[in-house]
Amino acid sequence: MVSEWITEYLQWLFLLILLLNLAQRRQYETAAHKRLATLYIAAGLILFYAIAHIIQIFEASDWWLLPTGAALVYALTRGESALGAFHIQCSRCGSRLSLASMLYQDSNLCSNCRLGQPPTSPNTGHGENNEAGMMDP
Ligand SMILES: [Zn+2]
Repeated sequence: MVSEWITEYLQWLFLLILLLNLAQRRQYETAAHKRLATLYIAAGLILFYAIAHIIQIFEASDWWLLPTGAALVYALTRGESALGAFHIQCSRCGSRLSLASMLYQDSNLCSNCRLGQPPTSPNTGHGENNEAGMMDP
């Protein structure tokens, strides 16, 4: 059953997200919004875990997970919500963000844009490596 698998493995994902939240606490000045977002994600996962557990207790059909999962995905993705806080690309120049910028910077800007030096050729994916002496063609 899917609900058994969820109750067995979702707790590890939940723990990982809480550890990430603790790590974000150390970067409170720059990651306050993202820290709240990880808390919302963790709350959504614990709700999903509880529903899966209730399904197991009453030996109900796993199909009951579908409306819960759909509601969870809707709540976490709509507008400026939890998952929308995390970007993969710099919101100014479009270069790929480092993992630290993805997790700890509410601005979603690469290090060059944060320091006010946008890279010379945008959208090449080398935005964060320009200071290391890489030359863009
Ligand atoms: Zn940038």
